Amino acid sequence: MVTAEARSSSSVLPERARVVVIGGGVIGTSIAYHLAHLGWTDVVLLERDRLTSGTTWHAAGLMTCFGSTSHTSTEIRLYGRDLYARLEAETGQATGFRPVGLIEAAADPGRLHEYRRIAAFQRTQGLEVHEISPVEIAERFPLARTDDLLAGFYVPGDGRVNPVDLTMALAKGAKALGVRIVEGVTVESVVTQGDRLQEVTGVRTDRGDIGCEYAVNAAGMWARELAARNGLVVPNQAAEHYYLVTEPIDGVHAGLPVFEDPAAYGYYREEGGGLMVGLFEPRAAAWQVGGIPRDFSFGTLEPDWERMEPFLRTAMERVPVTLGAGIRTFFCGPESFTPDLLPAVGEVPGIRGYFVCAGLNSIGILSSGGMGRLVARWITTGDPGADVTAFHVDRFQPWQLTPAMRRERTAEILGTVYAAHAPGTQLRTGRGIKRSPLHDKLIAAGAYMKDVSGWESPDWYAGPGQTPSAEPSWEPQPWFAHWRDEHEAVRTGVGLIDMSFMAKFLVEGPGAAAALDRISAGAVAGEVGRIVYTQWLDERGGLQADLTVTRLEPDSFLVVASDTAHGHALGWLRRHTAQDDARVTDVTAVYAQVNLQGPRSREVLAAVTSSDVSAAAFAFRDARWIDVGGAWVLAVRITYAGELGWELYIPVEHAGHVWETIVGAGEPHGLRLVGLKALGSLRLEKGYRDYGHDLDNTDDVASVGLGFAVAKDKPGAWIGREPALAALAAGPPSARLVSVLLLDPRPLFFHAEVVLRDGITVGDVRSGSYGWTLGGAVGLAFVTNPDGPATTEWLAAGSWEVDVAGERYAARVSLRPFYDPTSARVYD
Ligand SMILES: Cc1cc2nc3c(=O)[nH]c(=O)nc-3n(C[C@H](O)[C@H](O)[C@H](O)COP(=O)(O)OP(=O)(O)OC[C@H]3O[C@@H](n4cnc5c(N)ncnc54)[C@H](O)[C@@H]3O)c2cc1C
Repeated sequence: MVTAEARSSSSVLPERARVVVIGGGVIGTSIAYHLAHLGWTDVVLLERDRLTSGTTWHAAGLMTCFGSTSHTSTEIRLYGRDLYARLEAETGQATGFRPVGLIEAAADPGRLHEYRRIAAFQRTQGLEVHEISPVEIAERFPLARTDDLLAGFYVPGDGRVNPVDLTMALAKGAKALGVRIVEGVTVESVVTQGDRLQEVTGVRTDRGDIGCEYAVNAAGMWARELAARNGLVVPNQAAEHYYLVTEPIDGVHAGLPVFEDPAAYGYYREEGGGLMVGLFEPRAAAWQVGGIPRDFSFGTLEPDWERMEPFLRTAMERVPVTLGAGIRTFFCGPESFTPDLLPAVGEVPGIRGYFVCAGLNSIGILSSGGMGRLVARWITTGDPGADVTAFHVDRFQPWQLTPAMRRERTAEILGTVYAAHAPGTQLRTGRGIKRSPLHDKLIAAGAYMKDVSGWESPDWYAGPGQTPSAEPSWEPQPWFAHWRDEHEAVRTGVGLIDMSFMAKFLVEGPGAAAALDRISAGAVAGEVGRIVYTQWLDERGGLQADLTVTRLEPDSFLVVASDTAHGHALGWLRRHTAQDDARVTDVTAVYAQVNLQGPRSREVLAAVTSSDVSAAAFAFRDARWIDVGGAWVLAVRITYAGELGWELYIPVEHAGHVWETIVGAGEPHGLRLVGLKALGSLRLEKGYRDYGHDLDNTDDVASVGLGFAVAKDKPGAWIGREPALAALAAGPPSARLVSVLLLDPRPLFFHAEVVLRDGITVGDVRSGSYGWTLGGAVGLAFVTNPDGPATTEWLAAGSWEVDVAGERYAARVSLRPFYDPTSARVYD
């Protein structure tokens, strides 16, 4: 009999395995380990050279949980820290984990405010973190210069781990359960079969083929090129990444906490009695944009110390003793980064069974435990067990693969790791690549542009001929006056909003109606000329999309989703219509989308069309082609602002003409151009949800208050029907999305502010803005009643507060929106 251990050590390639994991870095090894722990032991891990030979072997090994306002990221980190502490007991292989503590220095008011917000949020997730004074920093890390620091954030449970030992422990644990790890095998491509929806059938290696149901691309900085062989978009790119290690220094000992001063670009930890000084410089350098050498193993890069010298000096001045110490190692190695500093994770659109986990953005060691568990759960159950809307590999777009984009964005994005992250911070590279057909007109009107999933889009307008400018800040800014005026224009008059970035798909063919009906929780296959707001659910009832479906013709539908959900909604649609007699076409770039919103929108529309747009003739949710000037425009009476209004879908060649026609006709009605900042405040006053922000795959329709959009009596089967109906029948859930409003008009919401009921933490804000009509910060928060259902009575009986950067403010919460709860203005 062949034991699990003996089988796992074999260098012979098996003919088949259920899962092939490609890449023996810390990520692939952790995925294999967690698959085995979930009972999937028919797993082969293939490593091109030897385990850790890519990036993992040279990582600094910081195991720090502090620094995120994401539930998923925080959970990943906390789980990993716990795992690394207990892995030796399970496997007999030490991980080198040492909880020496972390001190994160706040050197300026912006960072202090940011870290207070993070600390408040992460405490609610179970992270022990204390704000400490500069004197206390000096007591714990005496070598640092603290005279100009404002505070520190001390996390006693954080520390460091040895990346190679951690990987070996994960590998040992995986092998003990029967996983086979074969080194010296290069995967050339993933083999698939199928037509409109492919599925994995195996992997092709330099030593032959292995049949499998699942392939996991965990090939680190090689992941992009491996994915490209199957036509996939995984735009991670290697960058130079630096640290140095000094000779032994007096006073440096193994128990010294990890110290980070992002404002000085540096992190510091003990290494061999000396100090490691690691760097995140503000502008970095991509490495090997043309492709990573196939034989690069345990490799180092030629350091560019001339470029690094000013940043290194700043970092060393924070811990002055390093300036005089001898340098034992100058190190530069490659780590791969993604365009948005978030990892590329999940099943790719278009190929069933092809998973990716790559682009770890310099936190692959500390993330590996939690990320491995997440991917393994996803593969084995179809459910990642966490909100993955921000991580999903399907968010990336082909233009992000271009060499120019990778070179420039990678150099910038590494620099954002240690930058301050005040609201309004903008990326400067990769801009202007996707433009609305109205772009030049928006610029001429003084638009302050921001990046919306790659599209340049107006956030607010300074006015014609003005040059808009804004500084990132946590405080109110002068441009807030423009935002307020635009918000009020939509509430009391009329506003025009360019939203051409919205994702638009045509679904056509004899099978289109049945297919969309099966995918949607709403009754989308009703009358021609009507729009339906609906969710797409998975088999467990989890939310996979939140969008509108408009029936244009009996066999033709327009599906519209938000920009952030573009890839996911399209992938979901294609995957679930692959067997149908229906064609899906992405028409995002074929139509501009312009929103005319506000109580006077009807007057303006009536002035530019010969169609009857009266309340009697053009009801709420009607959709029809109307003439505007010399063009035909699809007008849909719907709103995301909470007012009377229309979305106008305009063939791009007519967009400029239609825009000019409306702007001209709107002048006597006080029409104002309105940006996305106002749309955000308008929609949050009205409690309208945004997928990826307020809604995610872990939610069901009941908890987020979307039961009204479910067609409970719809005949036939639809995906997610049983769990959705069961959730709705079960009565009020214990966790619910509620509107939240601060009574004090001064503080601002952005995201992740902590919500308390009777002094006890019960949730946090998912999206926040400022309610100019309501007179205070407003948002949508997810709150949980630990003792029962979150009923209206439970909400009303509590005394509510929100923690904004460590200060508590009285608040109101409500299941119904604070603004126009009966929607009288919408139906007008
Ligand atoms: C200087 C530096 C310091 C860092 N410090 C930290 C830190 O303190 N904390 C932290 O959390 N992170 C840190 N990181 C980041 C961390 O090292 C990475 O995020 C992590 O190692 C990535 O792991 P991985 O498994 O994705 O990639 P890799 O370790 O590169 O593993 C990918 C593996 O895939 C194999 N492979 C590639 N192509 C194929 C193929 N076709 N077939 C078979 N095998 C293939 C490669 O040989 C490689 O072994 C640091 C990185 C650097 C460069």
